[in-house]
Amino acid sequence: ATPTAILVGSGMGAERGLLIKGGDILERVHQLNTIVFDKTGTLTTGSPTVTDCISISELSPQEILQLSATVEQGSNHPISQGILTAAKQQNLPLLTASDFQTKPGLGVSAIIDNQIIFVGNLAGLIESNIIPPQPLPEFLGKTIVYIAIDGKVMGLMAMSDPLKSDSKLTVEQLKNMGLRVILLTGDRQSVAEAIASELNLQSEDIFAEVRPEGKVNVIQTLQQQGEVVAMVGDGINDAPALAQADIGIGLQTGTDVANETADIVLMRNSLMDIVDSIQLSRATFNKIR
Ligand code: ADP
Ligand code: MG
Repeated sequence: ATPTAILVGSGMGAERGLLIKGGDILERVHQLNTIVFDKTGTLTTGSPTVTDCISISELSPQEILQLSATVEQGSNHPISQGILTAAKQQNLPLLTASDFQTKPGLGVSAIIDNQIIFVGNLAGLIESNIIPPQPLPEFLGKTIVYIAIDGKVMGLMAMSDPLKSDSKLTVEQLKNMGLRVILLTGDRQSVAEAIASELNLQSEDIFAEVRPEGKVNVIQTLQQQGEVVAMVGDGINDAPALAQADIGIGLQTGTDVANETADIVLMRNSLMDIVDSIQLSRATFNKIR
C-alpha cells in the first residue's frame, strides 16, 4: 500500500473508535476470511448470574453458595464475580479461607476449616480425581459450577450469561461480507451450542471446552488450512491466541494483557465496529493501489 493509504486508514480508524496499532494492520484486515470470537465477555455480557443453587449433601443451598463465594474471592474470572454477587444479594458473609489456587479453564480451590474446597467444572473435578455426581445435571445452555469438599461433590450452581445486544447483528453482517465466523470457548459444549444457535452458527464452527493453552492451537490449525484469521477476545487466557492470529482484536473493557497483545482495540466496545473496520480496510486498499 502507499503511505497515503496507510495514513488515511489509521486516521479514519481513530474517528471510528478503533485503536489501530500499526500502519500495516488495516491492510491485513482486508485479507481476512475467518474471524474467531471468544464467548465470555466478548459475545456475551461477561456478567454471568447464578440462576440455580442446588445441594446434593447435608449442606443447605445457602451454605453451598457461601463456600463457593469464599473460594471465588481468589479469582477474577467473570464466573467468580457472578457467584460473589449472588452471595452478597443473599447477605451471606464470606468465611475465613487460605491457600487460594486458580486452575485456568478448570476452577479454583482454597482451604476453609482445614478442608480443601474445589469450585469448578466437570473437567476440573476429573483432573482433581473427584467423582462427578450421577446422573450429571442437565441445565442445557447454562454453565455448571460444582462445589466439592475434600474430594466429594456437595452441590452445584447453574449460571447464565446472555449475548450482548449487538452480537447477533455483527455476526450476521460478517457472514454477509463472506467471512467464516467461529465461536471459541472454554465453556461446555451445551452452552456453546445454545449461543451458536442464537447466532446461526453451524456446528463445524463451534470449538467448545477448549483449555486456555488449546485456543492457540485452534488458530494455528485454521492458519495451516490457509485461512487468514482474526481473533476477538478479552481475557488473559485469550492473549496467546490474539498474538497467534493474523489480526488480534481486543475490547476496551478487556484485560490489559489482552489489549497489549491486540493489533486493534475496539475503544467503544461495540462489536459492530469490527464490521466497520473491515469495510474501511476494503474501501481503502481496494481503491488506492
Ligand atoms: P472462557 O473465557 O471461554 O469462558 P475459560 O478458560 O476462562 O474460558 O473458562 C472455561 C471454564 O473453566 C469456565 O466455563 C468454567 O467452567 C471454568 N472456570 C474458569 N474459571 C473459573 C472460576 N473462577 N470458577 C469456576 N469455574 C471456572
Ligand atoms: Mg472472555
